[in-house]
Amino acid sequence: MERMDGTFDVAVVGLGAMGSAVADQLARRGCKVLGLDRFVPPHSLGSSHGETRITRRAVGEGEAYVPLVTASHRIWREIEAETGRPLFTECGTLVVGPASIESGFVQRTLAVAEQFGIPHERLDGAGIASRFPFMTGLDGALACFEPGGGYVRPEHCIDAQLTRARASGATLCTGEAVVGIRQEAAGVLVETDKQTWRADRIVMTAGAWNARILGASFDRLLMVDRQVLHWFALEERAPFTEASPVYIRMHGPEAIQHFYGFPPLPGERRVKVATEQFATSTDPDAVRRDVDPAESDALFKDHLRGRLAGVRKDAVETAVCLYTVTPDGGFIVDRQPDMDRVTVVSACSGHGFKHSAGLGEALARRLCGETQDIDLTPFALARFRA
Ligand SMILES: Cc1cc2nc3c(=O)[nH]c(=O)nc-3n(C[C@H](O)[C@H](O)[C@H](O)COP(=O)(O)OP(=O)(O)OC[C@H]3O[C@@H](n4cnc5c(N)ncnc54)[C@H](O)[C@@H]3O)c2cc1C
Repeated sequence: MERMDGTFDVAVVGLGAMGSAVADQLARRGCKVLGLDRFVPPHSLGSSHGETRITRRAVGEGEAYVPLVTASHRIWREIEAETGRPLFTECGTLVVGPASIESGFVQRTLAVAEQFGIPHERLDGAGIASRFPFMTGLDGALACFEPGGGYVRPEHCIDAQLTRARASGATLCTGEAVVGIRQEAAGVLVETDKQTWRADRIVMTAGAWNARILGASFDRLLMVDRQVLHWFALEERAPFTEASPVYIRMHGPEAIQHFYGFPPLPGERRVKVATEQFATSTDPDAVRRDVDPAESDALFKDHLRGRLAGVRKDAVETAVCLYTVTPDGGFIVDRQPDMDRVTVVSACSGHGFKHSAGLGEALARRLCGETQDIDLTPFALARFRA
């Protein structure tokens, strides 16, 4: 697919979770790929850092996502076999919520597991406590335990996909910021702070910065929220092992009444825990990167105390990360309405990593005109026009 005029088949703008996956999958198919990133991925300034991401096939966010994460699991295993680098740890995923809520997140998770025949166990409070003693305060709780879930290493995935893309012939330029894109009759122009590139098409995967490049019409669709990750040291007899599952714990009817966390990484005596906030949006270039100890104290007091055993009170490390959130919390994967050669991919809203490898493959198939069985129409922009 080498073009004779020195231009690229596809320019991928942003090489984080999504961009590295798309670039890898396109380059493997023989596309002439240009990848651009303003920083040097994997880095800790966007949405894809902090050591681990939860992955599960029973996704309570909706059935449209199941084929994506299923494909991601297959692709990560392929990359592991090829590179010898561990990416996906199958320690299981435990989703816990109040049994009394009719269609809460745990109920939706169980429904998706049943619909797709995803191996899982349904547990009540006593069942959770006896199997997973790190979880406490479980009166009236219901859980879905998915043994095939677990966590993935985001920085390693990005690095591995970029290495593979390069090996397949992709041109990857880092430390080069895209400042504008333009469509002409014969292709697109990608203007950076260093030069102007030509390509046939563009895939916009700039994460929290997508709206900056795409312009005002995306401002109201892509809100950027500051999120904080906290690491807590484990007490000596903490009921956690490296094989403990990742967990998502809802402990009340309000959306903010939840936290999630991970087992200790091999050789470590600390665990990562976080909650989410959607109340205050931010500018990705002006986000406050430092964390006030009061933020970790509030997480401990409001969420962990009485619900998570064996965790010491004071956080030993924190990190700030960015969600890019759409009005309905779903993805956007669609053409830019004014530029049909530009595909916008915003797969964040806090739950995108698990789908990134599968979505990269689905997009590459679409751009290369291959047939595929993954339906991307649920992520179309049309749903916001109403
Ligand atoms: C705290 C936190 C916890 C999360 N937990 C989970 C989880 O457990 N499970 C899960 O599935 N998902 C989770 N997510 C969501 C998931 O991590 C994101 O959906 C995913 O990482 C987003 O990837 P991205 O490619 O859109 O963005 P990024 O990986 O941030 O990539 C965007 C890239 O674009 C580049 N860029 C920006 N501007 C420009 C420019 N002008 N020119 C060139 N390049 C540019 C950036 O440098 C960056 O490298 C979490 C997210 C956060 C923040």
